[in-house]
Amino acid sequence: MTIALSQFDEVRLDRVSRDFGALNALRDISLTIRRREFIALLGPSGCGKSTTLNCIAGLLPVTGGAIWLDKSRVDTLRPEERGFGMVFQNYALFPHLNVRQNIGFGLKMRGTPKAEMDRKVNEALALVRLQGQENKLPGQLSGGQQQRVAIARAIVIEPPLVLMDEPLSNLDAKLRLEMRAEIRRIHNELGATTIYVTHDQDEALSLADRIVVLRDGVVRQVGTPKELYEAPAHLDVADFMGFRN
Ligand code: ADP
Ligand code: MG
Repeated sequence: MTIALSQFDEVRLDRVSRDFGALNALRDISLTIRRREFIALLGPSGCGKSTTLNCIAGLLPVTGGAIWLDKSRVDTLRPEERGFGMVFQNYALFPHLNVRQNIGFGLKMRGTPKAEMDRKVNEALALVRLQGQENKLPGQLSGGQQQRVAIARAIVIEPPLVLMDEPLSNLDAKLRLEMRAEIRRIHNELGATTIYVTHDQDEALSLADRIVVLRDGVVRQVGTPKELYEAPAHLDVADFMGFRN
């Protein structure tokens, strides 16, 4: 493959906190993510999922703690220096650029030579199964196709980490199931390391190798779907997961 993701062993959050004025949105979040894992950050609205992801990406500074990529401290770096791939709920595509230009944008900014850029964009297009659509504008695509463009754009820069914030919540139920399977397929084919934010228990259980349950800015439990099911750490985890009906 032309797209070769940066290699590393682990990403580590060490007592990360984030305050908004008097609000402690994140409190001492400690977490280790290993290479090639698919991690779901799961919890109800307002529990701090997006804040966690944005702190990892560098879109929000942390107010305490540190984030490490192996032995390099990254929470002091700018987002583009961290080089993580981001996929947002609203796709965040450039409306005036076609699919190929949207996907290649980050490579172009980095001054990637044209031939190499074309090769990588072609491979990303194939990986997300958008060949034949490359000259269309985002407005001419369905929601699912737009999200495929956003995923291609995130992975084409060969990020060590792919960060997704509720990427399926703007899609209808049928497309959501289809794209859920696609996201896991793409993760596997690339050998990516993915952190996936969702408030949907079902999505987390079906997609993730491990689930991090967040509540009020605190990690309540980390475990495989099986571990959470068999031994929820708290009644509120069992309730939230729907394991106590
Ligand atoms: P989630 O993504 O789990 O729904 P967020 O991470 O967006 O939750 O928000 C966590 C908490 O931090 C919420 O109480 C939210 O209102 C608050 N918050 C998030 N962003 C800001 C901000 N920019 N300014 C003030 N409060 C914020
Ligand atoms: Mg959010």
